[in-house]
Amino acid sequence: MKIILATGNPGKVKEIKKILEPYGLELIPLSHLSPVEPPPETGKTFEDNARLKAEFYARHFNQPALADDSGLEVDYLGGGPGIYSSRFAGPDATDEERYKKLLSMLKGVPHPQRKAAFTCVAVLVFPDGKELKTEGRLEGFIATRPAGSSGFGYDPVFYLPEYGKTTAELGEEKNRISHRFRAFKAMGELISGKEI
Ligand code: IMP
Repeated sequence: MKIILATGNPGKVKEIKKILEPYGLELIPLSHLSPVEPPPETGKTFEDNARLKAEFYARHFNQPALADDSGLEVDYLGGGPGIYSSRFAGPDATDEERYKKLLSMLKGVPHPQRKAAFTCVAVLVFPDGKELKTEGRLEGFIATRPAGSSGFGYDPVFYLPEYGKTTAELGEEKNRISHRFRAFKAMGELISGKEI
């Protein structure tokens, strides 16, 4: 099956292709299609935003389209920054400014309340409006100081007690346990009806 992969991020395209190709799915990145202005992400949940993107491209190109939305949810912040993860410290902030803002908001907050999760929701929409949805989560804690240099976003401050490392210290291994890996692997299984 040919599916449009509705993301403009080349890193994500590579990561998601690697997860879904064993399921016999052919992914067409947006960069291989005629350019179109992406829809604004106005949803209130990861699911809303993933659906909104997938629906838009499925309708526009009249082909199945797969999109995701992801972010960091911190218990102490009532699930924030959540859908605002990439805009948390203003539209032009760097990853470092974002995680530093998070660390300062959690200053003095004890370990149990630093519990957090990366969440990813993937939605596949067909041109007739039918859809499939999957979700992946990776649970951890917000560290008190950054460590590691691989990954992106909040990885330097996302600590996994079972590894004794942040996701920025895990390197390639992160891509085998991540929220995105779990959501897209579940999608591969759902579409193809087989586990790999
Ligand atoms: P999006 O799904 O690309 O819109 O991601 C939203 C934001 O969530 C990113 O800009 C990051 O700040 C954060 N985020 C999502 N996934 C990860 C991850 O694997 N590591 C670190 N930060 C992430």
